[in-house]
Amino acid sequence: MFREIFDIYNWEEIKQSIYSKTSDDVEMVLNKSNRRTPEDFKALVSPAAIGYIEQMAQLSRELTLKRFGKNMQMYIPVYLSNECQNSCVYCGFSRNNNIKRITLSEEQIVQEIKEIKKFGFEHILIVTGENELKAGIEYFKKVLPLFKSEFAHVSMEIQPMMQSEYEQLIPLGLNTVLVYQETYNKNLYKNYHPSGKKSDFYFRLETPDRLGKANINKMGIGFLIGLDDWRTEAFFTSLHLNYLEKNYWKTKYSISFPRLRPAAGEFEPKVNITDKELVQLICAYRIFKEEVELSISTRESEVFRDNLIKLGITNISAGSKTNPGGYSTFKESLKQFEINDERSPEEIGEIIKHQGYEVVWKDWEKTYN
Ligand code: SF4
Repeated sequence: MFREIFDIYNWEEIKQSIYSKTSDDVEMVLNKSNRRTPEDFKALVSPAAIGYIEQMAQLSRELTLKRFGKNMQMYIPVYLSNECQNSCVYCGFSRNNNIKRITLSEEQIVQEIKEIKKFGFEHILIVTGENELKAGIEYFKKVLPLFKSEFAHVSMEIQPMMQSEYEQLIPLGLNTVLVYQETYNKNLYKNYHPSGKKSDFYFRLETPDRLGKANINKMGIGFLIGLDDWRTEAFFTSLHLNYLEKNYWKTKYSISFPRLRPAAGEFEPKVNITDKELVQLICAYRIFKEEVELSISTRESEVFRDNLIKLGITNISAGSKTNPGGYSTFKESLKQFEINDERSPEEIGEIIKHQGYEVVWKDWEKTYN
């Protein structure tokens, strides 16, 4: 399990070692012809690498074109429930927030699907809060087939589950699971996740292991940008990815870059990342792993997202609503967080095409299942 590797490392020592990387270290890693290691990754996310951003962007672009061609995969999230038993201090759906709680019924889900299908998507990302009773395994077993009959690719961002539960959902059409560690700083984790099942750091950390053992087709990992030093968080994510690829080599991987956005509860991020640093982070992952998918959501601004298209991103969301029923049945319900790019999927598709890229609505065949 990843825990055995993770526990060898010390957060402060890693941080110090990243911040002590020099220009020579960065150049050595950029000029390397063989595969880069997590140790190399430290140089790529170090402050010293910011002076090499142009070189990194060019290399990232070349590697992405070589592996993925000029293709951009489109996906859209659908929120099914804002019920949650956790109290993450940065989230509008925290159980401590006094909001109207909604879990969509099968009829309401069919309505949402009808609206979403008008945009042309074939890849759907199902999102729920973490509530075993309202949105647990029995609920997912009921609603997954509704999605599978309409979408080629079904991803889920839901509560971490047991291996046996994933094994029940995969035959129903589950292709991908996203599970972000939020922060890899074990000592701070509890401050951000004080109660509920999510307060168990190691249960979350080992979720990708359970997914790998269940033979999931693809999983997405990452951290929430804003909770602690992003360079150190990124190193631990790279270590995690490296471990998972070695141990569950049949599974594909993606990395996302969720940057904290305003939400109910008025949480202030502990650290900020500039747009330039976020570009550095994206390029660093691409240079580290040529084959990993890199995904950007509508948390980011229009201009910034447009500029990222050629830099290494392979998956992009569009037209997103972050509230349950947001497309049709409960348009005014509370959003998990504010989005930053409100353009329609069609508009975003045009921008991608304008940059010479193919807009990929369908990246999976049901028969592959
Ligand atoms: S981040 Fe997820 S688990 Fe935490 S309160 Fe929000 S919905 Fe619940």
